[in-house]
Amino acid sequence: MIDDEVMADKGFFIKLVNDEKGKGLFSNRAFKEGDVILEEKPVICCQFLWNSQFGYLACDNCLKPLETAEENVRRLTGNPNFVVPHKECCEVNKSLITECHQCGVKYCSVECQNEAFQRYHSTLCLQGKVKDESHPLNQLCETWKQMHYPPESASIMLLARMVAVVNQANDKEEALAMFSQFCHRTISNDTHEIVHYLLGEKFVGQIDILQQMMKESLNTEYTAHWFTPDGFRSLLALVGTNGQGIGTSSFSRWVKNVSALELPKDERIYIDKLIERIYDAMDEAVGPFLNNEGSGLYVLQSSVNHSCIPNAVVEFPYSNNTLVLKAIRNIKVGEEICTSYLDECQLERSRHSRQQALSSLYLFVCHCDKCQAQANDPDITSDEEESDED
Ligand SMILES: [Zn+2]
Ligand SMILES: [Zn+2]
Ligand SMILES: [Zn+2]
Repeated sequence: MIDDEVMADKGFFIKLVNDEKGKGLFSNRAFKEGDVILEEKPVICCQFLWNSQFGYLACDNCLKPLETAEENVRRLTGNPNFVVPHKECCEVNKSLITECHQCGVKYCSVECQNEAFQRYHSTLCLQGKVKDESHPLNQLCETWKQMHYPPESASIMLLARMVAVVNQANDKEEALAMFSQFCHRTISNDTHEIVHYLLGEKFVGQIDILQQMMKESLNTEYTAHWFTPDGFRSLLALVGTNGQGIGTSSFSRWVKNVSALELPKDERIYIDKLIERIYDAMDEAVGPFLNNEGSGLYVLQSSVNHSCIPNAVVEFPYSNNTLVLKAIRNIKVGEEICTSYLDECQLERSRHSRQQALSSLYLFVCHCDKCQAQANDPDITSDEEESDED
């Protein structure tokens, strides 16, 4: 739950910006470039299904990597001969890894295993039916996977975990209220557009099948309103617009730690060359698929609006699902804190291109300072701009 008083001494607060933008996050004090504005855990998160199937080994609860940096490198390059030195820079302690004794899903620690079981896993545990293709939950995952080939951006299991959290909560009303906080940016008229985007043109007709499959695989007694035709569309839209991507990697943590070591010049040159060689080999073998990937719902982060000239950025510096919002320039008291929902390449594109992407992915028109300054630019996409220049 958002507690205004607690947040006030934390350096930020949430308020309504306007009806179109909904809520926004504002600074309560000055932040310097590089300062951490806030840290938070998701209310729920989940690894993507193909990512997991392709052997990206992550804690089923917090997405922390479960393989050492060396194992990570060997798997992603397909080369078992790579040796990763400075083992002390690898953060994965394999002796802490545990698994559900009923279904075998793996966790980074007993704490994660217990938390998962108490919050949602006792509902979703497949027990001895992990490989049973006729099990309703396995069918649900299979159907979703056929609709969503990598690169993945959402998972039906995030929805399943939401249902399970409500089922297992002592206070069902409180659990439902926690999820309803995310509805602020979803305008019901536009719901079908985001669902369209999320499912893709050819799968929109299958939305009722997904809804039916979820009803068959889970007890939806307490979440019945999510399983009406409109309710299910809103739920998909909620996850589509609020789901924050999470990426973790034991090798990238090793790179960060080893880069911070004080090393003799020769060794530094050797390590830098090794890192370069490993990244080249990974690029050849798996292209952009370097990370354990998933998505989660974050209460505070979900109230952060977009700007094409953002003053903050989302990071996962602990290599698990803990999100850190960091200032990327100095922020004054009272300023709205914004991140970019677009990646760096998209941000460089014309106002028209950016607005097309934002309206199809997130259903809003950007009025940030950059967009306003470019308001009189012609309505052409960057592709058209480039071909004009040819
Ligand atoms: Zn964990
Ligand atoms: Zn289990
Ligand atoms: Zn903008």
